[in-house]
Amino acid sequence: MEPRIAELKTALEQGHRLSDQEALFLCQKAELPDLAILATASRQRHNKGDEVTFVIDRNVNFTDICNIHCTFCAFHRSPGDASGFVLSMDELRRKCEEAKRLGGTGILLQGGVNPELPWTYYLEIVSLIRHEQGLWVHGFSPVEIRAMARLNGLGLQGTLEALREAGLGSLPGGGAEILVDGIRRTIAPLKGDTKAWLEVMEEAHKIGMKTTGTMMFGINESLEDRIQHLQVLREQQDRAQTRGNGGGYTAFAAWPFQPGNTVWKGRVHTATHADYLRTIAIARIYLDNFKHMQSSWVTMGGRTGQLALHYGCDDMGSLMLEENVVNAAGTHFEFNIGEMDTLIRQAGFRPRQRDNVYSLLS
Ligand code: SF4
Repeated sequence: MEPRIAELKTALEQGHRLSDQEALFLCQKAELPDLAILATASRQRHNKGDEVTFVIDRNVNFTDICNIHCTFCAFHRSPGDASGFVLSMDELRRKCEEAKRLGGTGILLQGGVNPELPWTYYLEIVSLIRHEQGLWVHGFSPVEIRAMARLNGLGLQGTLEALREAGLGSLPGGGAEILVDGIRRTIAPLKGDTKAWLEVMEEAHKIGMKTTGTMMFGINESLEDRIQHLQVLREQQDRAQTRGNGGGYTAFAAWPFQPGNTVWKGRVHTATHADYLRTIAIARIYLDNFKHMQSSWVTMGGRTGQLALHYGCDDMGSLMLEENVVNAAGTHFEFNIGEMDTLIRQAGFRPRQRDNVYSLLS
């Protein structure tokens, strides 16, 4: 190990918080095996032992009609496009029942921002999943919450409280992409700036709601941009932990942009598997106030998903029973529960099913 990295390792063991400059140094200079050592030490500080968790849930996209038109999105249809869909209550009920038969405990619920949907639709779908079907609702990205707040006039906090009252459990934190305004303006100019994304998360944390931190990288951002992204998440988590009301980030997940079927195909340098492992390892070391790191096997595949467990991840995320958004970009990886079990064991860990807020299930 290079002397400067060995020094950093000792400092981290003694409680030192990685600075932005040190994170940049690791991005630029650290060898992969050294990052694995640092990230594994960090993982052990947060999650001792050899358990690796996963959740069984179903990713339900209730509509693909969206007026945000992110340049990287191969999933959405424009308002008025006859090929778009809105899920009916019966279809949603059928998906929930199927998820339960397969051992699912929750639904990851995400749109499109469909301007034709009334506010009551959101309350109804959340209530159906939670109160009728008894499943956890991990749902909606900040841009969707903001659109609902414009629709109902309740403000962000009022909207989140009304959704929680209807059955919403937690926010998945989609749409963060890179939390740097210059990048956001280029890739998704209608999605709102960094402040707008963080504000929804802050309001959720203020009412004691749990959320997930995410990053989609590899879309022409710099290494400094990635660190800035991690910085705003770490600062926000500090504030949440100071509040001590149960709200805050449960976990962080990062995945590389999938340019297939988008205008970016051939215009971005597709992130490599090594780039992914470097990124998740540095996130594990930097985000010292996040308890869990998810391995992104859905975009990276099982082998890299396994490797990520040796680069700081303690969780395999969701055994997704349906994944439309990544599939739309041309990436298809699917596992059943037996294969997930094998993947985790082959990587040297013990599998353990959890729920959407990281409580272990027997
Ligand atoms: S990523 Fe989400 S918000 Fe953006 S266009 Fe696609 S569905 Fe709409």
